[in-house]
Amino acid sequence: MSSFKKLFILIIIYSSINCNAFKKIPPNNLQPAIVSRTAWGAASPLPYQQHRPVRITIHHEGTKLELKDDAAAKIKAIQKWGMGQDRNWSDIPYHFLIAPDGTIYEGRDPLTVGETATEYDPSGHLLITCLGNMEVQKVTEPQLNSLIKTIAWASKKYNISPDSIASHRDYSSQTTCPGKNLYQYLQNGFVKTEVKKYRIAIDYL
Ligand SMILES: [Zn+2]
Repeated sequence: MSSFKKLFILIIIYSSINCNAFKKIPPNNLQPAIVSRTAWGAASPLPYQQHRPVRITIHHEGTKLELKDDAAAKIKAIQKWGMGQDRNWSDIPYHFLIAPDGTIYEGRDPLTVGETATEYDPSGHLLITCLGNMEVQKVTEPQLNSLIKTIAWASKKYNISPDSIASHRDYSSQTTCPGKNLYQYLQNGFVKTEVKKYRIAIDYL
């Protein structure tokens, strides 16, 4: 074997060892499990407006949904209603949706502007909703945990400050969304504090 060939093989071996030794942990290693649009049977979106999310805004969906109910069927219905004659939206209004059992569902592309039935402009807002009506029902523990994990992961992924976390009613006088039973966790700082704790773990990776 010529010395050139030997050198070539050595370089290949060395670089492959090097690659493994310095393999980085993927930055989204703490990404929670998210049910994809395909899995819940989403319809294709219509043409949409792009944006860069710079703040996180929490909602409740506003109609009652309990643990025993079929969350995926509900999400399909929300999309159908939103894209129907009532609203004419380009897709489901939220970027992520969280069911009472804590399952997280993929909504519209986070790099597209969400939708609202009230007067605020959702450009720049990453919209995360808890399924249910939190004026009349409680947020379950798994739902709250998933909300915190989703916010923490998304805030890292899209480089959004956890200090930007707020809720729909903070931007609109036309709604009580996200409902008093969820709003209390935003009002007393619980969500922000827990997200920041979780971010420390993510940032460490
Ligand atoms: Zn809302």
